[in-house]
Amino acid sequence: MLDPKGIVTIDGPSGAGKSTISRGLAAKLHFTYLDTGAMYRAVGLALERQGIDLADTPALTKALAAIELTLTPNTDDDVRVLLDGEDVSQAIRTPEMGMVASRVSANPLVREKLTALQRQLGEKGGIVAEGRDMGTVVFPKASCKFFLNASAEERARRRQKQLAEKGQIVDFQEILDQISKRDYDDSRRTLAPLKAADDAILVDSSSMGPEAVIAFMLERIAESAR
Ligand code: C5P
Repeated sequence: MLDPKGIVTIDGPSGAGKSTISRGLAAKLHFTYLDTGAMYRAVGLALERQGIDLADTPALTKALAAIELTLTPNTDDDVRVLLDGEDVSQAIRTPEMGMVASRVSANPLVREKLTALQRQLGEKGGIVAEGRDMGTVVFPKASCKFFLNASAEERARRRQKQLAEKGQIVDFQEILDQISKRDYDDSRRTLAPLKAADDAILVDSSSMGPEAVIAFMLERIAESAR
């Protein structure tokens, strides 16, 4: 079976089901789930609250150095995120914060800080790391890499349902537009763009439920460990 110190990476566009799948897979493997999107969202929230101009390098450097992020597994579905001691788990899970995260994530100083933190969290292994650049940049030597995708419409539908469950009613077209813009920006940025690693296993979850995707991944992981 997989080395207990192994690292599994799951990259892909927004709404492809990465969080559900990563969490489920981590539970099956007895690994820790690392939600790197939550980190970009929390940093985005911190910088926005402080009104930091990303072009103001000295101010950004100072603000980033002062940010304290803590991620702990939560009993319900999401990871609990503490920003300077404050629980921002709910505040970061809005479509607007997704857009803010996408904007700040193209900044080299932000990426530098979070890449270092993610590597530190993954140092001991035993993690399922989810994001956009886990297999390409952060953990290029991961034991097993996946790139999870689904059609844009299906991803928008799932995101709409997920938000509705949290009491946020958002128009389908609005979500589809936001998802498409985020994918476009995330794929085209110079630094750590959204793309599959050359050695990633591609999974299209458009017509597959989470259980089927997790079962498929467990088989691939078992194969790769042989
Ligand atoms: O996955 P999630 O939707 O929470 O990510 C929010 C944004 O953070 C993404 O649209 C992307 O711009 C950024 N991100 C990133 N690299 C990661 C994870 C997220 O650039 N590893």
